[in-house]
Amino acid sequence: MKNKKLVMIPGPTPVVRSILDQLSRDTVAFGDPDFIKDHKATTEALKGMLNCNGECFLIAGTGTLAMETAVANSTKRGDSILICSNGFFGDRFTKLCNDKGLDVDVIFAEWGTTVTPEQVAEKMAAKKYAVVTVTHVDTSTGVVAPIAELSKVIHAHADTIMIVDGVCATGAEPEDMQAMNLDIVITGSQKAFGVPPGLCMIWANQTALARREALGEIPEHYCDFKLWAPVMENPQKYFGTPAVNMVWAMKEGVRIMLEEGMENRFARHIKMSNAVNAALEALGFTILAGEGLRAVTLSNVLYPAGIDDVQFRNTLAEEGVVVAGGLAAYAGKMFRLGHMGNIDMHDLVSTIAAIERTLVRCGHDTKLGTGVGVLMANMMK
Ligand SMILES: *Cc1c(COP(=O)(O)O)cnc(C)c1O
Repeated sequence: MKNKKLVMIPGPTPVVRSILDQLSRDTVAFGDPDFIKDHKATTEALKGMLNCNGECFLIAGTGTLAMETAVANSTKRGDSILICSNGFFGDRFTKLCNDKGLDVDVIFAEWGTTVTPEQVAEKMAAKKYAVVTVTHVDTSTGVVAPIAELSKVIHAHADTIMIVDGVCATGAEPEDMQAMNLDIVITGSQKAFGVPPGLCMIWANQTALARREALGEIPEHYCDFKLWAPVMENPQKYFGTPAVNMVWAMKEGVRIMLEEGMENRFARHIKMSNAVNAALEALGFTILAGEGLRAVTLSNVLYPAGIDDVQFRNTLAEEGVVVAGGLAAYAGKMFRLGHMGNIDMHDLVSTIAAIERTLVRCGHDTKLGTGVGVLMANMMK
């Protein structure tokens, strides 16, 4: 018999039944009075979740659209932008901003580390930037950036907007837009929210909305805050047809998150990631990110000597768990394991157990139960 397939990649993450059920509801008119209420309630809840004093734009599209929308509404051609790149998704910002005709400077962190507040302060002392972008968790490395400290340094300059790419963080790593002074935060539905791919969220505080006003006409349409703002304010208005069933799925996703409570959710992610990392280390793997730099949402896991990446991941898939491969220089050297969103003890135990079976099948000297034992001991602390 074939194993069930547990998708433990860093997004899409496993989707629970009550969210999936929303996708099979009869689709209604976007002007349906009940849908309008649901849409409004969802964006209001999302604003509350991040303590946002401006607007949350809930739009059909992926995290990359959210990145582009954030940049499009805070810069004009020729503006200088500073990218804090901790890996693959920082580099995506660089490419996107180059394509938009911006003057792009980049601070690169070596993969597995993060750009520091000191580095940002130094760059900003020498040049004026309209925007600084920070990837909260770069999915290519599993490192978490110190966004609160970076925000202090960035906002020492009055006219600079901070964009936080939370695509692999929001909903699992704390992001309080007022307490941390974050101007724009973006994410996608399919990562720590545990909703299928298809929606993105762009939270913009009052400073960011004022920046959009100050830009006047921008060469954008689908990405323009000003064309979406009336719809977010009153979903009875039309701009682009809302993804009705996905909005319902998001509403249910948000309900689950708020029912758990954000503080509990953050704590659960810390516990899960510590337990998973300890289990993997007990099995001979190395976590790329050093202690203190590790994201709670995923682990980027270097193989012990003698394990072949393709054989490992194919065997693991046969054992019922799908993980992602390493990117760029780490292709073939590591796998990426998501542990975010609406996953539970069963998912974690199954994942570590499948990794143990896979190691044995790959000829590695592994005592079955080693990782699972460490995982459970940590989860029961
Ligand atoms: C996944 C991811 C993105 C891109 O999101 P898509 O939905 O794939 O477009 C951007 N940034 C980070 C940090 C991500 O993890």
